[in-house]
Order: sequence, then C-alpha cells, then structure tokens
Amino acid sequence: VKKIVVVGGVAGGASAAARCRRLDESAEITIFEKGPDVAFSNCSLPYHLSQMIDVADDIIVMRPIDLEMQYSIAVKVNHEVTAIDPATKSVTVHNLEADTTETVAYDELVLAPGAVPIRPAKIAGIHNDNVFTIRNVEDVKHILGYLLDRDITDVTVIGGGFVGVEAAENLSNGGFQVNLVEAHDHVLKTLDDDMAQIVQKTMLDYEINLIVNDRVTAITDKNVTLASGRHLKSQAVIAAIGVAPETDLATQAGIATGETGAIKVDQHFQTNIPHIHAVGDAIEVFNWQTGKPQRLNLAFPAQIEARQAADHIYGRQVRNHGVIGSQCIPVFELNVASTGMNEATCQANHVDYRTTTVIPLDKVSLMPGAKSLFLKLVFAYPTGEILGAQAIGESAVDKQIDVIATMIANHNYVEDLETLELCYQPKMSTAKNAVNMAGMVATNLLNDEYRQVPVSAVRGLVESGAMIVDVREKDEYRDGHLTTSVNIPMSEFRDRLDEIPKDRPVYFHCLTSQRSYNVVRALINLGYTNVYNIVGSYKGISYYE
Ligand code: FAD
Repeated sequence: VKKIVVVGGVAGGASAAARCRRLDESAEITIFEKGPDVAFSNCSLPYHLSQMIDVADDIIVMRPIDLEMQYSIAVKVNHEVTAIDPATKSVTVHNLEADTTETVAYDELVLAPGAVPIRPAKIAGIHNDNVFTIRNVEDVKHILGYLLDRDITDVTVIGGGFVGVEAAENLSNGGFQVNLVEAHDHVLKTLDDDMAQIVQKTMLDYEINLIVNDRVTAITDKNVTLASGRHLKSQAVIAAIGVAPETDLATQAGIATGETGAIKVDQHFQTNIPHIHAVGDAIEVFNWQTGKPQRLNLAFPAQIEARQAADHIYGRQVRNHGVIGSQCIPVFELNVASTGMNEATCQANHVDYRTTTVIPLDKVSLMPGAKSLFLKLVFAYPTGEILGAQAIGESAVDKQIDVIATMIANHNYVEDLETLELCYQPKMSTAKNAVNMAGMVATNLLNDEYRQVPVSAVRGLVESGAMIVDVREKDEYRDGHLTTSVNIPMSEFRDRLDEIPKDRPVYFHCLTSQRSYNVVRALINLGYTNVYNIVGSYKGISYYE
C-alpha cells in the first residue's frame, strides 16, 4: 500500500489527492492543511465582499468529510506540516488545535502549499488591524465582518492585479467607496495600456477612485498616504500587492528553488529530492514562448500540474509543457481576457512584433444588446506567428481568447485565423467572427496592403498638427469629435478627394476603425500612398481624451 502525503488541501493539493485515488484504490492518502478548510473556490472569494455570495461557507466546494466519504482521503485540517525529512521519508505535523506534534511517514510527498500575500514592510502601518489580505474563506469572513461591524464607508485596495480589481469591484458593489491605488501606469498588467484604459474608464464610471502611477506609503485608521503626498479617506485597506511562493518548508528540507524564488521542478513536476513532487502557486513554471522561468498564480496550472504529478507518481508518462498564461476577469459589465504575449512582454524579450485591434459588434447589429468587442492581436514580425491577444467586451470574450490560445499552442500564423471556421448565429456572434477579422487585418498589414497607427498615437498626432479625418457621418460628428479632426464622411469622400492631400500623411478614423479602414483601402486603390488607419478609432480615442 502506497502512502501518499499531500501538503495543502486547496486547488493543487485536493486535485493531486483525488487523482491519486482515481489511479489507486488501495493507496493511503492523507492531506494536511494548516487552515480550517480544504477544497474551496479561491477564485470566488471576492464575491463575498459584495455579498453576492452571502454565506462565505458556500465557497467551500468539498468539506473534509466529503473527501473522506467520497474519495477515502484522510483530511487533517488545522494541521501544519512543519518539517520534511527526506532521509527517513517522513514529515513532522503540528496539530494546531491540540498543539501536539507527530511524525508521519510517506512513500510519495506532494507539496501544494500555495503562496502568501505580500505585506511590504516599507508601507507604514501595513500590519495594522485594519489591513487585510485575501487568500481563504476565513479572510473574507473577517474582512466583511470588520467592515460591517464598524460601519466602514471608505476602503482602499492596494494593487490593480486581478485580486485587487475583483476586490475593488465587489466592495463597490457592496456599497463602499473604494480607492484603488496601483503603482504601475495601468491596472491588469496582462493587458497593454490601450486595452487597460477601457477597463479603467469603466471602473471610473462606477466611481472607483482609481489612482495609477502612485503608491501607498502609510496607513492609519482614517486615511492612507500616497508617495505623491495625497491623502485618501479610508478606514480599511485590502493589500492585493501580490503573493510570494510558500517555500520555507521546502527549502529547509534542501529542496531547490529557481531564479524566481519558487520551488524548482523538472519535466515531471518532481523537485530535486526523490519522491517529492510540487505543484501550484509554490512552483516556478516554464513559459515556452519566452523560454524563461516565471510564476503563474492561477487555478488551471495548479490543477493540471497536480494531475500530472499524480500521474507521474503512478509511472505514467507526463511532460511539463509549460505555460503561456491565459486568464479572464469580469469588471462590472465588461469581460476581460488575455492570452500569451502582450506588447510589454514582447519588448522585454526583444521579440519583434506587430499588433492590430478590431472592434466589431459582438452580435449582429439588429439583435438587442449588440455591443462593441475590442480584440487586440499581437503577432511576430516578419513571420506572422500568433503571439498573444487581449479581448474586452460585454459578451463572452473568453471565447475569442480561448480560440487564439489554441492557435498559439499549435504555433499558427495570422493567416490561419482568417479561414478558421467558427460558430455563427446572429444573436450570438457575427458571421465573420472577431477572430477572423483580426486575422484578416493582420495578414493585410504583413502583406503591406495598408498601414495603421495605434490609437495611443493620437495625442502625439494632435500635438504635431497632423491631419486627422473623421469619416463618420455628419450627425455622428456633431455629437462629439476630436477638436482638431476634419469631417469627411465615408458617404462623401469620393466627391471630396481634393480635400485629402497626397503630399503629407493623413490619418483616418471612425467609430470602430472599420469604415476608416475601408476609406483607407479605397484611397490606396486611388493612388494615395500616405494614408493611415487609426486603429482603436473614436471608441478608443474617447478613452484617451
Ligand atoms: P492554494 O489554493 O493557496 O492552497 C495552498 C494551501 O496550502 C493553503 O490553504 C495553505 O493554508 C496550505 N498550506 C501552506 N503551507 C502548509 C503547510 N506547511 N502545512 C499544511 N498546509 C499548508 N485563479 C484563476 O485561475 N482564476 C481566478 O479567477 C482566480 N481568482 C482568484 C481570486 C483570489 C482572491 C485568489 C486569492 C486567487 C485567485 N486565483 C485565480 C488563483 C488561484 O486560486 C491559485 O492560483 C490556486 O488556488 C493555487 O493553488 P495552490 O494549491 O497552489 O494554492
């Protein structure tokens, strides 16, 4: 009978234990979890802050008794593993309730201890009673209880990553006035700045006091102070600054860590010590696009690594295929998703790239509720290999991103997106999916059929006095336009060619860059060589003004 010990009982740990049971009915499987709960949905935690999930314990997917009854897995909560002795193949376990210690032998050990939220010592007051982090069910119970018991009105969230943004949204939906302070120049680093602006505008529309390029330096029970010297009213703080891999237990036992500081594993998720595998937020993963080690604190990698580690324990052939980082997050009515490389990661890795953004409707315009969908595609230059994508819209934009993630995994090129056969029905999509459109525009760019500039270039164009032509119809222009733009509607441009100079660059935009694209293509066919489409266009420009 194989004795399997698992450290940590949530995403990675519970998955590894369950997979071991599926592979071996006779194994003696024990999970040690230092917290009071196992198998809860970490990703649902922020939704207790708005009381959308009003009973925090509902976040627990399986209780210890469920795992014991259904999977015959011994689950010891409030039990911390404090030491590993690889020589005797045993762990020391501290029963936190009884305050007793025991030694437990293993044949195979799986480490899934996760990560711990960071509290930077340089922030004065970071350990005050009114500063919280979110990692487990007890955390969100405690936070909501604290806020409600004290009639707190103003809360500051530090950090605009996905945990910080979800916390801010839920606190706002829960009726609190929220400050969100992000040190970087925009929230959600998996997005490029032009896409993040769309998310930020929505957060501002919902009256979240969003502050970027600034950092919290001090916290009291009345306010927070920023590096810029500003003070924000705030009686409580959620620190969502990031997490550090939980490695103390491993390193004390001689388990090696990698250059990111997380536990180093091989192609089978094995550590440098035999019979010890490690999975989840505690480990370093390999990004096959950049060829570099990184950390990726997400539930899918944790669960798939757990399955593969269990398979390897049972002699199955597994290989750590590495990650590209696919993720999604709802932000109020928006859905935001991304996969693979963005402009920042291309630049950091010296990858030559191009991008294009298409803004089609998410369903046929006749259908109620049709809304724009922003899809940005990042591709390698000159090969056209698809590197990454970001999508924002009110529809299920994770569909577009999942399709592109699949294409990246298959090393496909932008022209492969043009002809990709996807589902269509007017209430659900457009006949040519946004994914097809992005592939077509990217292919045209690589074939030098037309040129574009990103919407982020508009401010510079305006300042330099460049000619910007708005091709929307007159009534649309009247309702709002860039002050320096000239209106030559698409329906009139063929009769007004004399107003479009040939001897200097001219930049065109409309609402979504689609009509302006058609105008630019027509002008190229008429012999114009200096015409550019502003990609992102008025919908994008409006986020920049
Ligand atoms: P965890 O799930 O954190 O489990 C580790 C467990 O190990 C902990 O319970 C800890 O108490 C226990 N432990 C640690 N040391 C010991 C020890 N010595 N002895 C015993 N027990 C120990 N990911 C997504 O993909 N999508 C999302 O939408 C998403 N939303 C998230 C929202 C929030 C608020 C948070 C916090 C995370 C979210 N994640 C999301 C990330 C995802 O939850 C994690 O990547 C995943 O849970 C990692 O799994 P893990 O098993 O490595 O760690």
